[in-house]
Amino acid sequence: MIETFETSIHKIAASRLHEVDFNNIIFGKTYSDHMFVADYFDGDWRDFRIIPYGPLHLSPSNVTLHYGHSVFEGMKAYKNGSKDVLLFRPMENFQRMNISAHRMCLQEIPEDVFIGGLKELINLDRDWVPDYEGTSLYIRPLLMATDEYIGVRPSTRFRFMIITCPVGAYYSRPVKVKIETDFSRAMPGGTGYAKAAGNYGASLYPAKLAQKMGYDQLLWTDAVKHKYIEESGTMNVMFYIDDTIVTPETGDTILKGITRDSVLKLAVDLGYKVEERKISVSEIIENLKAGKLKEAFGTGTAATIAPISTIGFEGTNYDLPEGRPVADKLKQTLDQIKTGKTKDKFGWTIHV
Ligand SMILES: *Cc1c(COP(=O)(O)O)cnc(C)c1O
Repeated sequence: MIETFETSIHKIAASRLHEVDFNNIIFGKTYSDHMFVADYFDGDWRDFRIIPYGPLHLSPSNVTLHYGHSVFEGMKAYKNGSKDVLLFRPMENFQRMNISAHRMCLQEIPEDVFIGGLKELINLDRDWVPDYEGTSLYIRPLLMATDEYIGVRPSTRFRFMIITCPVGAYYSRPVKVKIETDFSRAMPGGTGYAKAAGNYGASLYPAKLAQKMGYDQLLWTDAVKHKYIEESGTMNVMFYIDDTIVTPETGDTILKGITRDSVLKLAVDLGYKVEERKISVSEIIENLKAGKLKEAFGTGTAATIAPISTIGFEGTNYDLPEGRPVADKLKQTLDQIKTGKTKDKFGWTIHV
């Protein structure tokens, strides 16, 4: 795969690795030595290169800056104890990036560029993949438009980049979420299913208001009636009601999480009952009141499984039980697969 294109490698003069305190890493603050970059112009992807991580030179008229003409991905690499590096389901991220790219009129990435570039970068910076409990290397592929003009039309030039950063836990404690019934994240016919830059800029203000009220995150509802639960922040959401794991079915307003898919497959394999369907806000509230909603958690690459401690709705906070056997079991099993500690019967991990 890697042989089909040639990557030039320009190594950093002196690694910054020794500056990093791996026992104390803040999510998204520390970047590895190198990044992968490729450019698209004159009808082809070209200039594949691995260079020291560093700033970009951009014209102030770069269209990405003005019109959010970009998409991204998020994935993780893990060490397996014997210093092998494991990537978790990278093909899914590759495919989803192209789904996002298509929606946003960005040039799709060939598989050998995405996967080949990724493997070369991870191999070069493999010492940056931490191997302490609960740590990993977060990988951020980014695809942006690079035309320079004022005016809303699809770009003809693009840049694809992969940057990485060693990370620990995303949330250090269970999260408090507020069911949002005024603002919307995504609407039918919109870009909710794409990891498009603008979606996240638009979500900041409603999340900030909720944070002022003491919540960590929002639980988004559908944009039409604010009646059905969609997802939470940058996580999909699951509830354990009675003896069943229920999660909203995906469509064009919900990001199709790879963690979501993995957790559902794992849950079935572990013998849990699983339902993907519409979940109304009133169903959640009634089950909370009746004590039948025993667990709720977000699923996403950054946080893996983030237990929810409190759900707020119309000024009332509903606390969930402290014990979370289902979320704990799923997280533990998933972590063991990701770090190669248990047999990966799903074929999800790829060795670099
Ligand atoms: C990335 C993301 C998720 C989680 O997707 P994973 O593939 O599990 O990381 C969920 N919702 C939104 C809005 C996201 O951006």
